[in-house]
Amino acid sequence: MGMVNAGIYMESGEDDGRKWNVTGWELGKEEYRELREPEGRIRVQLGTDILGERVKDGGIPQTPGLGGFLTSCASAGVNVVERGFNDGVRLGCGVYEFTVRDGVRDSVRERFLVDRAGRGELQNLRVVTGANVERVKIEKTTGLATGVVYRMDGEAKDREVRVKRGAGAGVDNGAYIKAGVVLSAGATGTPGLLMRSGVCGGCEIADLEGVGRNLQDHPVVGVVVEIEDKGGEEDVRMIGGVWERYRETRGREGKDQGVMGTAGFQVGAFLRSGIGEDEDGEKDDAPDIQITVFPRVTEPSFRDAEMSRPQTPGVVRMLFTVSLLSPTGRMRVTPTGQIVPEGGEYLSDMDVRKLEWGVEEVRRILGHEPMKSRVIKVSDPQVPSGPLLRNWVLKNAKGNNHWAGSCRMGNREDEDKGIVVDEDLVVRGTKNLMVADASIMPRITNGNVHSTVVLIGKKAAGIIANGIGGKREE
Ligand SMILES: Cc1cc2nc3c(=O)[nH]c(=O)nc-3n(C[C@H](O)[C@H](O)[C@H](O)COP(=O)(O)OP(=O)(O)OC[C@H]3O[C@@H](n4cnc5c(N)ncnc54)[C@H](O)[C@@H]3O)c2cc1C
Repeated sequence: MGMVNAGIYMESGEDDGRKWNVTGWELGKEEYRELREPEGRIRVQLGTDILGERVKDGGIPQTPGLGGFLTSCASAGVNVVERGFNDGVRLGCGVYEFTVRDGVRDSVRERFLVDRAGRGELQNLRVVTGANVERVKIEKTTGLATGVVYRMDGEAKDREVRVKRGAGAGVDNGAYIKAGVVLSAGATGTPGLLMRSGVCGGCEIADLEGVGRNLQDHPVVGVVVEIEDKGGEEDVRMIGGVWERYRETRGREGKDQGVMGTAGFQVGAFLRSGIGEDEDGEKDDAPDIQITVFPRVTEPSFRDAEMSRPQTPGVVRMLFTVSLLSPTGRMRVTPTGQIVPEGGEYLSDMDVRKLEWGVEEVRRILGHEPMKSRVIKVSDPQVPSGPLLRNWVLKNAKGNNHWAGSCRMGNREDEDKGIVVDEDLVVRGTKNLMVADASIMPRITNGNVHSTVVLIGKKAAGIIANGIGGKREE
């Protein structure tokens, strides 16, 4: 779960737990504290600049394009967040926190599997790589998950893993069950697995219309900005010589391997457009736009177009991504695994207006010094202003790989038909079948989602240890 990401560590927003409204899922700060060192396993630190210097608490990075952005934010009246965005204040601009350990990106695989396996703690764990799960086997009469059917890379024959039912495990006799099937194929993968297993709207085993629905992301547009490259040390720090810098600083005491210790960027902003009300119809004070600043156009979704564009001597291009934190547009996953917008539109009218606002806010901030004197053009390719901006947003909005919500969690007693899993992550209408990934989020969180996915994994482990969907051990 959650292996691939750029390392930005962002806990849920202050109000996300209230919006989820599921018992036991308040998403409190103390729960996240248990994930990160010193209480937990993940190491989190503020981003480093390209020279590998750690940004001091509340400091402005040395790198001119990035530090320059923060200074311009401050002159544009945007709050500068003192220490990451996880310390109580999210609204404003600042330096991101990353999951980094000794200058290398930290990963859940290393911390939760490799470390523990190295200490001989995971004797009962067997990992099968290259396995593609076709479906879960579920008994029609009881709804009991008895195993999974899978195929190995390139093989045509089905293989099977059966759930072992140990002594004392039971189904309807009130005893707790420790053995079961836990799906973690992600918000775009898990719904298809359930559909192929007889669990979906109109399906035979469990008729759950919410499977695959309510899919959300943080849709994003990218504003490319041409910056004057004056040459000289200052600019080398900002844009060039990244690999050389990495090699120079690698392993040097006090250095954190620069961009290799982050994802090549370090600052961003959480802003509030003030447009509209949230979908519950209540006023919402949470930020609704996230801007991320890339010293070069390195973000994969935008890099290909950049590579085919001619480079101009004396000019470098930075990328400012503008993403929507609380989209009201919804998508769904089809039985064939396609992602299609509900109602035909990926973005609602309000979503588009917020993204337009975010683009204009980038322009406004860059209109303040020190960025103002460095910017040659916003943007290449041209981003229009005024009424044309709407069409530009609609044409250029992309997915952000933050898929969530397609197997929505809700309280057991809640009769809402869109709910797929209960507060113990058990799939409704089944027994000992759980989902533990981003698909269970009722609403996407107010920022990068990975830390919340890890939190879901941790809570799932606690549930399994206590007995899946059964009576809790006293
Ligand atoms: C390029 C990128 C950068 C990102 N950067 C950040 C970031 O900086 N910070 C952040 O907070 N979030 C980031 N994210 C988002 C974050 O990584 C995801 O939200 C998170 O990984 C989702 O976790 P998950 O467990 O729901 O799904 P995943 O991590 O997608 O895990 C699902 C797994 O199931 C496997 N699978 C699917 N179907 C099957 C099947 N049928 N059989 C067997 N296996 C199957 C998939 O191969 C995958 O390994 C990023 C995502 C991407 C792609």
